[in-house]
Amino acid sequence: MGKKGRVFSGARPTGRQHLGNYLGAMKNYVALQEDYDCVYSVVDIHALTTMETTQNLKSNTLDMVLDWLAAGMDPEKSIIFVQSHVPEVMELHTILSMVTPLGKLTDLPTFKDKVREQPHNINYGLVGYPVLMAADIALYKADTVPVGVDQAPHIEFTREVVRSFNYRYNCNVLVEPQMKVTEFPKVIGIDGQQKMSKSLDNHIEMASTPEEMNKRVMMMVTDPQRQRRSDPGNPDVCNVFSLHKIFSSPEEVKMIDRECRIAGIGCVDCKKLLAKNLNTHLEPFRERRAEFEKHTEDVVDMLNDGAKRASVIAKKTMQEVRSAIGLL
Ligand code: SF4
Repeated sequence: MGKKGRVFSGARPTGRQHLGNYLGAMKNYVALQEDYDCVYSVVDIHALTTMETTQNLKSNTLDMVLDWLAAGMDPEKSIIFVQSHVPEVMELHTILSMVTPLGKLTDLPTFKDKVREQPHNINYGLVGYPVLMAADIALYKADTVPVGVDQAPHIEFTREVVRSFNYRYNCNVLVEPQMKVTEFPKVIGIDGQQKMSKSLDNHIEMASTPEEMNKRVMMMVTDPQRQRRSDPGNPDVCNVFSLHKIFSSPEEVKMIDRECRIAGIGCVDCKKLLAKNLNTHLEPFRERRAEFEKHTEDVVDMLNDGAKRASVIAKKTMQEVRSAIGLL
């Protein structure tokens, strides 16, 4: 049976991935490979818009790809490559910027957020970021983009840019992508409050050793009302319980739900059980990652091969784009 269409998705090179990355993106990336032609990119050029130093850019790229591969993203099934290895995206970005009103970009809430976050570095790249993202998607003629609900406006923007290009040059060269909205569980960090994120240092890395895992889980904030072991707790407001629901057996979840409310189980034991289950769940991942890590030169070859395959699509699209514009 043929595939349903082409998926594009990109992620910034943030190094070793955490449980939030896994549940929010990687798991879905792996599943999509069965039904779609997938193009997965490490968007290193995007990362430059907010990066103060590129010192760890290479190692972060490689670390993220090692996690991707260990999680089951498969170069035999998908194109996995690094954005900057296919420079046509920069050309398409420039061309698409000519059909994008500046006001539209500066009005985007994501741009305003970035201005607030880094007032000392409001660079041109930040303004053009959504255009580069549109170029990423359009270059590979992806018709499907997996997104969480909060990212829907980005894809709507891409659709508008694609329509503007096709209208301006009276052609049908670029493909308007559809969103594939997926409900991802919102993974809260070990602080029990904010979304899991490396920059907030509230994350749990997938590649943690069992010891690191135990340490991080023991640091997790639980039901704040439960001060003493003898106090009954409320699992509904406890992030440890949220992770149990994902990584523990239905029987264990039921037992914690019951025992926590009557102080039958203490938070330390509850966390020990979670750490044990997380370690069991991640063991095969760690083994695969260690194997890939022993042969990083093969991983680099795989990325080069991915870039070659991506280039074939990119070059063809750019020929059509240039011809539609009427460039000599
Ligand atoms: Fe949370 Fe478990 Fe403690 Fe209940 S027993 S408050 S679910 S850590």
